[in-house]
Amino acid sequence: MIQIKTEAEFAKMREAGKVVEEALLTLGNAVEPGITTWELDEIAKKVFDKHGAISSSFHYGDPPFPGQICVSPNEVIVHGIPRKDIVLKEGDIVTCDVCCSLDGMHADAARTFAVGKISDEAAKLVRVTEECFWKGFEKVSTDNRIGDISSAVQAHAESFGYGVIRELTGHGIGHQLHEDPDVPNYGRFGHGPRIVKGMAFCIEPMISMGRREIAVLGDEWTVITRDRKYAAHYENTIIVTENGPEIITLTEGKNV
Ligand code: MG
Repeated sequence: MIQIKTEAEFAKMREAGKVVEEALLTLGNAVEPGITTWELDEIAKKVFDKHGAISSSFHYGDPPFPGQICVSPNEVIVHGIPRKDIVLKEGDIVTCDVCCSLDGMHADAARTFAVGKISDEAAKLVRVTEECFWKGFEKVSTDNRIGDISSAVQAHAESFGYGVIRELTGHGIGHQLHEDPDVPNYGRFGHGPRIVKGMAFCIEPMISMGRREIAVLGDEWTVITRDRKYAAHYENTIIVTENGPEIITLTEGKNV
């Protein structure tokens, strides 16, 4: 069931969104060749602690997720576990997916960062994945349906020959990290739930350079592309207010 939020709940979500945004800005500045995904996790934890925020990822699910954030390099699409033995190198791309709660309300966003100088091919994947988010965001209107977002994301990604990951989707968010409705990155125009005032959800294109099939590693979390080609991810939390859609995890301007 889709939970409709009050203005008071939105106000709390905006505060959580600011913490997520600050963490992502800090992580983006810290990403460089030689840093481990573990160190990135510690950087995010410091930002959470500064604001009294709680990671929504830590101990989520079964087996409990061990990191404060998900850190997913190269062929890892999502849910990469921060590790001391994963050292980023020049030419890698790395996605940081950050979600936290503050006063019981959650916010969630992700960015894929370049590690040093990356190939033109990788840079294009990262750019197009962010563009997919904006194509979807343009459809957020109380005249539209969730499927309008999905089909816009899919059409843009596939026009570049990229793979659209289907097993993982955007989602409603609020009191829980994952609420109804699902917000898939593929679908049909005119289908799915109507977008109404009081909704809060994440649009999060997960796009691969090659095929769309996935595999999950033995740690039961790390999701990779089966063909091992690079994947990128871009996500923000959106609330639908009486003044229209508002992105609560991107208030300082574009941060990639
Ligand atoms: Mg999400």
